[in-house]
Amino acid sequence: MKSLALLILPLIAFNSYILGRQIPSEDWLTSNFISLEAGYSAIILMGFMIILATRWKWIEKICGGLDKMYHLHKWSGISVMLLALLHISFMSYKGTWGATKIIPVEYSYVKLFENILFIGLILTVFFAVVKKVPYHVWRIAHKLAGIVFMAAIMHWLTISSVATLHTPAGLWMGIVGIVGTFAFIYRLAFYSWLAPHYSYQVSEVNKDARTISFTIKPLAKKISYKAGNFVFISFKDKGLREPHPFTIAEAPNEDGNLRFVIRICGDYTRKLAEELKAGMNLEVVGPYGKFNRQKTSSPEVWIAGGVGITPFLSWLKDAETSNPNTSFFYLYHGDEQIPDVSEIEALAKAKNLNFIPLASTKGEALTTDLLQETLGDKVSSAEVYFCGPKGLLKYTKQILKSLSVPSSKLHYEMFAFR
Ligand SMILES: Cc1cc2nc3c(=O)[nH]c(=O)nc-3n(C[C@H](O)[C@H](O)[C@H](O)COP(=O)(O)OP(=O)(O)OC[C@H]3O[C@@H](n4cnc5c(N)ncnc54)[C@H](O)[C@@H]3O)c2cc1C
Repeated sequence: MKSLALLILPLIAFNSYILGRQIPSEDWLTSNFISLEAGYSAIILMGFMIILATRWKWIEKICGGLDKMYHLHKWSGISVMLLALLHISFMSYKGTWGATKIIPVEYSYVKLFENILFIGLILTVFFAVVKKVPYHVWRIAHKLAGIVFMAAIMHWLTISSVATLHTPAGLWMGIVGIVGTFAFIYRLAFYSWLAPHYSYQVSEVNKDARTISFTIKPLAKKISYKAGNFVFISFKDKGLREPHPFTIAEAPNEDGNLRFVIRICGDYTRKLAEELKAGMNLEVVGPYGKFNRQKTSSPEVWIAGGVGITPFLSWLKDAETSNPNTSFFYLYHGDEQIPDVSEIEALAKAKNLNFIPLASTKGEALTTDLLQETLGDKVSSAEVYFCGPKGLLKYTKQILKSLSVPSSKLHYEMFAFR
């Protein structure tokens, strides 16, 4: 919802303003005006969605992390669909306000771009709504959404439009069209070459029934990152080449070794658990993410749920982590061997942190009372760091609200982009 307030609504308001000022105010309540405004904003937002998907560092910085960037991308997509629906429903072909075609072409081409756009939008909704579509299929379909954007730009250029290139609205659309097309081509064709990537080799592997832990060593240059960052890894082996994001569960170190702790949950992680062995080569792309501990003397609360422990493992080993005023709640199942709870306890002890493991098999849970008892008056001034499942985040937000902890004090990272 924050995404709507911060970028999407102001952007729609701006688009409506620059296009609306070209049209007499007595026509603002007509069907055609609503259709025109909705269609115009839908195309501009599509361009922004593609720019958001480039993973450009400066955009990640503005958004506060790649997960937030994809969140914004997702809400922009939902807004595009609603605007497209408005555009089609309110279209009346009346009141052209002196509209002209930027590129005059035969009607059959106008129809072609319109149809590509229409079918593309329907397919995009289908892939977004039907969660059963496997991630790798969704990902390929999603990558091609740039073609839908290009069809939208061609639609604008070939129909009679008031947003011609002599108007601010037309120039704005033109800029978004060029940057969006460049972003699409970059993401599709050049990202894998230009994004920072490093060659690594698996040096050690441990597994239990639900989790894999493995260490990799650099084959050439080592990656430079901050504790809490994540990377995309892709193995050279068939079936494991698709890049997947995982947090580095290790602090930056001299020899450049990285560790990952991965919960087995779907096709890829299951295959990885079966086939992973020392000596396998992989590529690491990144680093990404903004889940980095801020240097502060305020009390800190760390809440890790399940495999959400990984960024905290990195923080625990980081030389820069040095706030004894920290309470660390680790919510875990209770029978896992990886990661070893006693290993986490020892790391927390070495940093002088108050470590509170809560095993669900023992009926232990995070509650408002427990947080209040542990932190006392300090709770409302604490910086809270969270990493874990969506449901636990929602529950944590409720607890913090009941303890009057401002939402600006909660920092979190989600382990999902979709
Ligand atoms: C920033 C970030 C950090 C993460 N860190 C860790 C970690 O340290 N340890 C850990 O166990 N898991 C982590 N994950 C989650 C991990 O990426 C997924 O669990 C894994 O990719 C699932 O793959 P699968 O095919 O086995 O499961 P599936 O059942 O196919 O996928 C489960 C979900 O994982 C996500 N996913 C699947 N494939 C991809 C992909 N190629 N790229 C992006 N997302 C995908 C989708 O949301 C999907 O719905 C992290 C995710 C993110 C976004």
